[in-house]
Amino acid sequence: MKSKERTQQKYKKVTCPKCSSNKFKKDGKRKTQNRGKIQRHRCKNCNFRYVIDDGFFRMRNHPNKITCAIDLFYKGVSTRKVQEHFQTFYPKNSTNVSVYNWIIKYSDMKGGFTDKLKVKSGKEIQVDEMEYHRRQEHKKRGVSKDWFIDSIDVHTRFMVGSKYFKSRGKTEIKEVLAKVKYKTEGYVTTVTTDGYTAYENVVKKTWGYNNKKGRYNIFHKKVIASKGEGFNLFIERLHNSIRERTKTFRGFHGSVESARSIMKGYEIFYNFIRKHQAINCCPYELATDLILESSNRWLELIKLSKV
Ligand SMILES: [Zn+2]
Repeated sequence: MKSKERTQQKYKKVTCPKCSSNKFKKDGKRKTQNRGKIQRHRCKNCNFRYVIDDGFFRMRNHPNKITCAIDLFYKGVSTRKVQEHFQTFYPKNSTNVSVYNWIIKYSDMKGGFTDKLKVKSGKEIQVDEMEYHRRQEHKKRGVSKDWFIDSIDVHTRFMVGSKYFKSRGKTEIKEVLAKVKYKTEGYVTTVTTDGYTAYENVVKKTWGYNNKKGRYNIFHKKVIASKGEGFNLFIERLHNSIRERTKTFRGFHGSVESARSIMKGYEIFYNFIRKHQAINCCPYELATDLILESSNRWLELIKLSKV
């Protein structure tokens, strides 16, 4: 999407919450305690006055502060330390629980946008899983073994699809592969996995059989380490980066949903925020048509997810 088109798209979506008309005029600004002045709109059809939800509607903290917390967290600072840092500069302050809640809320919001982006990938996607432990405070024998299933485009290093699950059966793998297929349609010809049997039919089934060509629409490449066939280098490197960051969590706490949101946030961090050493830019710059113009890409992604 070119930036001009995007701006137009932003305005197209300003609709009256009462009558859905998109005809409006700007009507002064509302002063808020922590978020500065917010543009008001007046509907030309029914005269209703409203503000647009830019993702921070009714939040008691400034978007810069919220996205600063998210940025620090994914760069390795714990929610408790983020809170301590804020305490120094904003005496009336949020707890580490609200910092945690922002991470969850905005990861989900941005994920709704980034999960739909089409990816101009290379021909090969590598797929794998990582094991995670999650402590469940309310249960006595409270450690559950979970899985993070992820995938990477070898060419652009974009993490194409990923999701945190309670297990790694065919259903879970299928869900991630369906996302990979949707996002890379027309580009991918090979899916590489290890020898884990759950991949066996799911890869072929997801892409389907081509009767005309008399073969499957995908080539499933299996690399079996125990047979001395080596490793899938790109996904292994991705796992190293993920481990590097997530080791400071010392496992997850709480629900599978919140662990899932946190890992979605990591995916966004990896694709859109962190500069990738090997390609000297962010993966999204090679893999998508998206143009992010501001220095605060967290904030820009949140606003785009509300368009
Ligand atoms: Zn109206």
